[in-house]
Amino acid sequence: MIKKNDVVTLSYTLKNSAGVELGKADAKDAMNYLHGAGNIVPGLEEVIEGLKVGDKKDVTVPPEKGYGDMNPELKLKIPRSNFPADADIQPDMQFSSDMDGKENVFTVEKVEGDQIFVNGNHPFAGETLHFNVKILGVRDATAEELSHGHVHDGSHHH
Ligand code: ZN
Repeated sequence: MIKKNDVVTLSYTLKNSAGVELGKADAKDAMNYLHGAGNIVPGLEEVIEGLKVGDKKDVTVPPEKGYGDMNPELKLKIPRSNFPADADIQPDMQFSSDMDGKENVFTVEKVEGDQIFVNGNHPFAGETLHFNVKILGVRDATAEELSHGHVHDGSHHH
């Protein structure tokens, strides 16, 4: 039974309400996360609580339990002069900026003359998320993983 501080291995597909695939991880490229640490969206984490290895689940997550609603205040028009003079600003570029003491990632949507249009919403903001998940493994987290608040699976460390 999956509980707080377990490391969960799962495969999943993620689609939006239009049926467009937004992401996936298959069994050989499975995702590991630390349960109960907010590593995944709340609506998925609460459904996985109590599942066990081999369980499969279809989960529908509304925006408020997913990546939040689209916030129009995070869609900004910034003068070119606010960027470094030698920066080659192109659509899809990302940069982070401090907003109210919290780091926020912005994506450049378009460049029009001297104006840079950026969007600081998560790419899946406003989307109802449809997950199909399969639990592949569960183990206890190590003390180091607990102190970092995330899994060390060899592909990541900081
Ligand atoms: Zn770490």
